[in-house]
Order: sequence, then C-alpha cells, then structure tokens
Amino acid sequence: MAMRAIRVKQFGGPEVLQLEESVAVPIPSDTQVLVQVRAAGINPVDTYIRSGTYQMTNLPYTPGRDGAGIIKKVGSKTTKFKPGDRVYFLFNASGSYAQYVAVEEGMVGHLADYLTLEQGAAIGIPYYTAFRALSIKARDKFKAGNTVLVHGASGAVGLASVQFAVSRGLTVYGTAGSQEGIHLVLEHGATAVYNHRDEGYIDKMKAAMNGSGPDIIVEMLANVNLATDMTLVNRNGIIVVVGCRGNVEVNPRLAMQKEFIVTGFALPNAAQGEWTEMHELMAEGMQQQWVQPHISKIYPMHEATQAHENIIKTKAALGKIILKVEN
Ligand code: NAP
Repeated sequence: MAMRAIRVKQFGGPEVLQLEESVAVPIPSDTQVLVQVRAAGINPVDTYIRSGTYQMTNLPYTPGRDGAGIIKKVGSKTTKFKPGDRVYFLFNASGSYAQYVAVEEGMVGHLADYLTLEQGAAIGIPYYTAFRALSIKARDKFKAGNTVLVHGASGAVGLASVQFAVSRGLTVYGTAGSQEGIHLVLEHGATAVYNHRDEGYIDKMKAAMNGSGPDIIVEMLANVNLATDMTLVNRNGIIVVVGCRGNVEVNPRLAMQKEFIVTGFALPNAAQGEWTEMHELMAEGMQQQWVQPHISKIYPMHEATQAHENIIKTKAALGKIILKVEN
C-alpha cells in the first residue's frame, strides 16, 4: 500500500522537504497502532533535524513527531484502541508528515470530542513539554499561590504552559513579541504579559511583582534570556531551560546568592513513570477542558516548506502551526 508523505533525502533548508505520492505505508509492530493522520504538528525541532545540525537521523526520512488522526489498525499486543478511534500521538516511529503513521500504543491518547483533529495535532510535544517542565522538573514550586513566568508564552509550548499553570492556581506572567500575542496570552488566563522586544520590560515586570520574582521560569530562548532570568527569579526558585538557540554568558554568583536551580530539559529524556504522569495530566486537562490548543495557521502538505520557514522566522507566534494531511 502506498501513501503521500513528505520526504527528506538530504539535510538542508526548507526546500529539501519534498511531497511524494507513493511512499510505503508503515506496517505497525505488535505493540504499535497505525494511525491515519489528519493533521501533524509543526515543531521547531523538525527544522533543526531537517537542517542536519541536531539529532541526526538516517536519510531518507519522513519528518514529524506528533499529530492526530484516526486509528486504522492495531497491533496484536495492544489493548487500548480500536479502528475508528480519534487520537493524538507523539514520538511516532515513522514520521507524521504522512497519510499514515505507526506509533507505539503508549504514545497515543484518546482525543476528547470537544477538540478538533487540528487541535489534537497541537497536543503532543507542546503540552507534554509544559507538563514535564512544570509538574515534574519544577515540582517543588508548582503549587497554587506561587508565581511562574512563561518567557515566550505566545507559542505552542508557552500557551500550553500558561493554561496548565492557571489550572493549578499559580499566578502566571508571560511574554510575547507582538500585541496580538500579548492579547492571546492574557485571554488564556495570564495575570500580566509583557513584550519581550520592548526595552525595559524586565524592569516593568519586576515592579509588578513587588520585588519578589517568579518561583518558576519556563524559558523558551535561554541564549537571549538566561542571564536576565537569573536576576529575576525568586530565591530558591527554578529556571527550566526548554528552548535555546545559542550560547550565553551568565553570572553564577547570582545562583550562589539566591540558591536557585537552573535545569535543562529535553522531553525525550522522560522516564517511563513520567510518561504515565503526563498521560494522566492530559486526560485530566481534556476532561476539565482547560486544554485549549490555539491554532495560528494550517498549511496543506504541499506547503510544508513555508510552514518550516514560518515557525523559525515568525516574530509573532500565536499558538501552534499545523500541517493538514489530506486523505
Ligand atoms: P513556537 O511556537 O515557535 O514559539 C516560540 C516562542 O518563543 C514564541 O512565544 C515567541 O514569541 C518566543 N520568543 C521569541 N523571541 C523571544 C525572546 N526574546 N524571549 C522570549 N521568548 C521569545 O515554538 P514552541 O513549539 O513553543 O517551542 C518553543 C521553544 O522550545 C523552541 O525553541 C523549541 O525548540 C523548544 N522546545 C524544546 C523542547 C525540549 O524538549 N527541550 C520541547 C518543545 C519545544 P513571539 O513570536 O511572540 O516573539
């Protein structure tokens, strides 16, 4: 059986993403399910992998780590799904910029009825990143009444982090790079949102926090912000470095004075028990409906190139960029 899929045959710019019409449909193993993909998430990591500068993969390959669709087949050792189920998935085995994808059953979840399949494609990496960053890496500080700064709140991970922290009763500060982004983050429950392109925004934020900084900072661009985060974070607080695109010079003396923690973060490093916890959080978030993915733009498969350009170059994120997979 053949399918349409985006293929990468050499590493390079967005132009190496090629739409092919007759790629072999993956055959799920006993522990996998076959999903007919309706929408795939476009994640920044897809562009790093495509460029060949990060986590090299064998060529040729089909990009895409997460998405949503309909279960088509189930492996003989799977138990949770049946053909026809609406699902979201992450860390699939064969690439989600394709009409079909094989995924380990443990990386698939039922999609609540109130969410569209496009919204389902915005769940995997963004929400699980928010869950692990806040509830697991920053566990000691992630409690009602504490304060979190989502530094880069207008994008996919940022908005998911805001929704999760608001649901838990934390006071949420955010940043965005545009007026529309600021409005969006406020709509999702943040207390105050600042433009990270404005000079002096950190001073304004400090003033608003009455001298005590955030207990948690979720950082989307550490190479730009880590040194500042270290001046801002509360005593004994925690900075979770989720995104970083270069080097930075910092003053470790601040860490000595305030005894805060700076922790790195990589979602694929999650341990088995952490995946269980994250699946439970997602089930709860859908049940209580505070999981509200916001889609900024949907690209058809033949515009995957533009989608990759957009996610890296845009200066005004508004939630999630999706690739619509026509079947
Ligand atoms: P995204 O949707 O493209 O969002 C990027 C965010 O960064 C936007 O909110 C953007 O705001 C913001 N930003 C831009 N300039 C900034 C600045 N100077 N200071 C603070 N924020 C700034 O990407 P995403 O999917 O949310 O991912 C965010 C980052 O986390 C990416 O670097 C991604 O690679 C990384 N990530 C890492 C992991 C992991 O396992 N470590 C997992 C998921 C994502 P404006 O566009 O409004 O300016």
